Parts: sequence; structure tokens; C-alpha cells
Amino acid sequence: METANFSIEFFPPKTPEGVDKLRIARAKLAALHPKYFSVTFGAGGTTQQGTLDTVLEIQAEGHAAAPHLSCVGGTRASVRTILQEFKQQGIKRIVALRGDLPSGYGGAGELRYANELVEFIRAETGDWFHIEVAAYPEVHPQARSPQDDLQNFARKVQAGANAAITQYFYNADAYFQFRDAARKVGVDVPIVAGIMPITNYTQLMRFSDMCGAEIPRWVRLKLASFGDDSASIKAFGVDVVTALCERLIAGGAPGLHFYSMNQAVPTMAVWERLVSR
Ligand code: FAD
Repeated sequence: METANFSIEFFPPKTPEGVDKLRIARAKLAALHPKYFSVTFGAGGTTQQGTLDTVLEIQAEGHAAAPHLSCVGGTRASVRTILQEFKQQGIKRIVALRGDLPSGYGGAGELRYANELVEFIRAETGDWFHIEVAAYPEVHPQARSPQDDLQNFARKVQAGANAAITQYFYNADAYFQFRDAARKVGVDVPIVAGIMPITNYTQLMRFSDMCGAEIPRWVRLKLASFGDDSASIKAFGVDVVTALCERLIAGGAPGLHFYSMNQAVPTMAVWERLVSR
């Protein structure tokens, strides 16, 4: 399988043990030769230094790394400071997002949507950064309608995004439909499929409720039927996610972005099965 557009996402660890665990996971995942690693960014300042620290560590190990950057709750001045820091550190790639504020946290900030953030990044730094934005084949949970969400996605690309990464999904048809609809409204940047390996039923249900990803009924029922048998959950998860990736690649998806959750094994299991076929 072509590995040119294969990337892996981490979140910044919060404890010294988490930092050590991520180093071990990263060393294993680096052996798969992803194009880059990305590191998420906490809205409201919670993990922002952790994002930069993790990105710099990855760069120092000789791998390409992209920080995520969210604008919600920030000001133009605060985003400008972060951009300058990224630039000084030689960072060339950013995943630009609106983000979600923790509940009870102040106002939306000066840049209200990701398209405004992308516009601001381009105005401040020209073509310095390769910018990825988020896309939602199963529709963003706050969108007024699928059509409205698609137009808002197109706005981010018109503002200067180079590519997109999708929210994770398990319905390949949702991805193909979204990609084709995006092409029809003039979006011609690569739309890389976001892939969430399946390892834990409760966690998957909780995340999916929050981000609006649908777990197909047959997958949900089968996972539930395994109860505490985590080996069966993981084995079934690898089957389902590998089959999804194969369909996406066969249907022309330009790349895969793995939400690793800072664990090496689930991503490696899918990846190794994909390349062995
Ligand atoms: P937007 O594109 O701004 O869209 C948000 C909502 O507003 C949508 O419903 C959209 O339809 C609507 N909208 C967009 N533009 C306009 C407009 N101009 N006028 C009116 N309505 C509009 N979150 C984090 O906090 N940190 C991360 O590191 C992070 N990484 C992510 C990586 C990926 C690949 C993905 C898919 C998501 C990530 N998220 C992250 C989650 C993301 O921040 C949330 O999904 C958030 O709710 C939306 O961010 P967005 O950039 O897609 O927002």
C-alpha cells in the first residue's frame, strides 16, 4: 500500500509517565514511516505548552510533526504569538481548528470559526504553513444542515487550507458521498480519512456521542456482545477498521490519518494488516 499520505495523531501527555509512554509508542509507530505525526491542542490553554513540547520532541527525533491550533477562546494577539513561536521553531505544518471550549469557559474569542483562523494564518504568515482543516463526512454536531456544513467546509478551503482530515467514521459511504459533494462545490484539496482504531467499547461509545460519529448497529451490537473480553473486541476492531481502510483506499481516499490515542498497538495492527495484503 502507498504510505505517502499516512499520518498519526497524538495528544500531549499530562504526566511524566504519560510522556514516557508516548515516547515508547512513538518509537514503535515511527517504524511504520508515517508522513508526519500531529499533536492535538487544548482549547482554553489547558495543553498548549504540551502541544509545542511534544512537537519539538518529535522534530528532534528526526520526524515531521504538526501541531494542531485552535482559535476558540483566543484573541488575534494570542494566536499571532503562537504562530510566531511555531515559525521560529521551524514548524511548517499546522492542523487549524475552531476547537471546543470546556463548559463554563468564557466567550468564543475573536476568531469564531476555523475559516477565520485559516484566513488569519494566511494574512499573518503567507504560505509558510501547510494548513490542514477538519471535515465531517457525518456532519458536524452543531451544523444547521449537511448543506450548511459543506459550505462552511468549503469556506475553510477558500480561505487557504491545503488539505483536510476527516472526523472518524465507520461508514465508508458517508466519506465518499461527502468527498463527491465537496468536489461539486469546487473543493479540490485532498480529503484524508480520519481513522479511529477500535479497542474499547465504552470509550468508543462516549467519544462517538460527543463528536457525532455513528457506530453502525451491527458493529455496536457485536462489540457489546463481547462484554469484558477485550481480546475479542480488539480482534474484531482490527477486522472492521482494516476493511474500512481497504474500502477507502480502493475508492480513492488520498490518505489515512490515525487517531492513535497515544497507543502504538491498535494503529500498528491495522497498518501491518493493510500493508501485508
Ligand atoms: P469549524 O469549521 O469552525 O465548524 C464548527 C461549526 O460551525 C460547524 O457546525 C460549522 O458548520 C459551523 N461553521 C463553520 N464556519 C462557519 C461560519 N463562518 N459561519 C457559521 N457557521 C460556521 N479539537 C481541539 O480542541 N483540539 C484539537 O487538536 C482538535 N483536533 C482535531 C482534529 C481533527 C482532524 C478533527 C476532525 C477535529 C479536531 N478537533 C480538535 C475537534 C474540533 O475542534 C471540533 O470538532 C470543533 O467542534 C469544530 O472545529 P472545526 O475546526 O471543524 O470548526
